[in-house]
Amino acid sequence: MRVVVIGAGLGGLCLAQGLRGAGIEVQVYERDAGVQARFQGYRIGLGGPGLEALRRCLPPRLRPLLDAIGGELSGEGRVVDPGLRELGRIPEADEGLLFDRHVLRHLLLHGLADRVHFGKSLNRYRELSDGTVRAEFADGSTASGDVLVGADGMGSTVRRQLLPSVEILDTGVSGVIGRTTMNERFAALVPGWSTLVQGEHRQLFLGKMPFHRSPHLAAAELAPDVFLPETASYLRWVMLVPAGGPIDLQREYAGQDGIEVVLDLIHDWHPDLRELIRQGDRRNSGVGPIRYAKPYAPWQTRAVTLLGDSAHPLPPGGLGANLAFADAERLTTTLGETTDLRACLATYEDRMRTAAATVYHEAMAKLPIFEHLVQDR
Ligand SMILES: Cc1cc2nc3c(=O)[nH]c(=O)nc-3n(C[C@H](O)[C@H](O)[C@H](O)COP(=O)(O)OP(=O)(O)OC[C@H]3O[C@@H](n4cnc5c(N)ncnc54)[C@H](O)[C@@H]3O)c2cc1C
Repeated sequence: MRVVVIGAGLGGLCLAQGLRGAGIEVQVYERDAGVQARFQGYRIGLGGPGLEALRRCLPPRLRPLLDAIGGELSGEGRVVDPGLRELGRIPEADEGLLFDRHVLRHLLLHGLADRVHFGKSLNRYRELSDGTVRAEFADGSTASGDVLVGADGMGSTVRRQLLPSVEILDTGVSGVIGRTTMNERFAALVPGWSTLVQGEHRQLFLGKMPFHRSPHLAAAELAPDVFLPETASYLRWVMLVPAGGPIDLQREYAGQDGIEVVLDLIHDWHPDLRELIRQGDRRNSGVGPIRYAKPYAPWQTRAVTLLGDSAHPLPPGGLGANLAFADAERLTTTLGETTDLRACLATYEDRMRTAAATVYHEAMAKLPIFEHLVQDR
């Protein structure tokens, strides 16, 4: 069996690792020119089944390295005002182990150099009369397989062709995300697992990404043939601006640098907060609307399927990567179970949809800023 995967994000690469381990032929096609091509470096929390799925898809010898590059947090969260005066406490939440997405992608790329092809943007696919699928890329090249997996994220080209009626909705909330290298002054802003700065019509979420050991050095010690980038511990910050307020981030700040946008929005906030943003990594900052899709009806199984955000674009709730890894393991296992490809894919899609619907409702209920959408679900 030959599997063509579109998208070398977290889910697509995890699937490729799983399939390679199961002895199934897999080729991955990624739109970006390379792993460094754009903003990739935010913090993700992985736990429970998602982390276990990732662990099982990786070759056993890389699992100790995975454990070494995760960070842990503990302690209550805080809500403070823009002057850093405490307004309340948030009970400690279990976000699992924390990982840096950019570091994880490097780990997931290991051993796949001959299977991952960068600079390949899918235009469309064709299902051929012999039952195979052909992917057609913007550069005129093609790739064929017995199954094509769309792991191409929220804006998925594969999903738009397979399920054109699925609507991507705007939450009405816009966000700016960024990161700043940790120092003592900034670490003090987040004494527990999280700090929420509650401003007028805007909220700034702060969270630490604490590496116990530099990922680069951990790789050198535990698996010297694996390259992981040098990354210091950092503070991840996300500014959210809700719908219906006086600030329209998309209209007023379109095309502007994320750091300058946040500095403008917090011009009269505490100097430590302003300094945190001012020192943000400009290569790792982005502004954008927050989108999602509601769970949708099952579709007729074909030789084309979906995985991760392309299958279930979730509102932010911290579980999209967990779900993408669980999908990857589910698909690896079902493809290895029987030779009836359509039956495998139907089983996979059923399980994937059930898991995604549960996570969707959890995610919608999680963030108070999305209350207007929760009413509507
Ligand atoms: C700020 C932020 C914080 C998050 N925190 C968490 C968290 O704490 N825990 C958690 O579980 N999840 C978290 N998530 C969600 C998580 O990052 C995503 O759910 C996860 O990355 C989805 O993986 P994926 O492989 O489906 O898609 P992606 O990782 O988005 O990968 C899709 C890939 O497809 C490529 N692609 C797109 N179109 C094409 C095309 N036409 N042709 C070829 N390639 C294409 C893209 O370039 C990309 O590399 C967070 C997300 C954000 C933005």
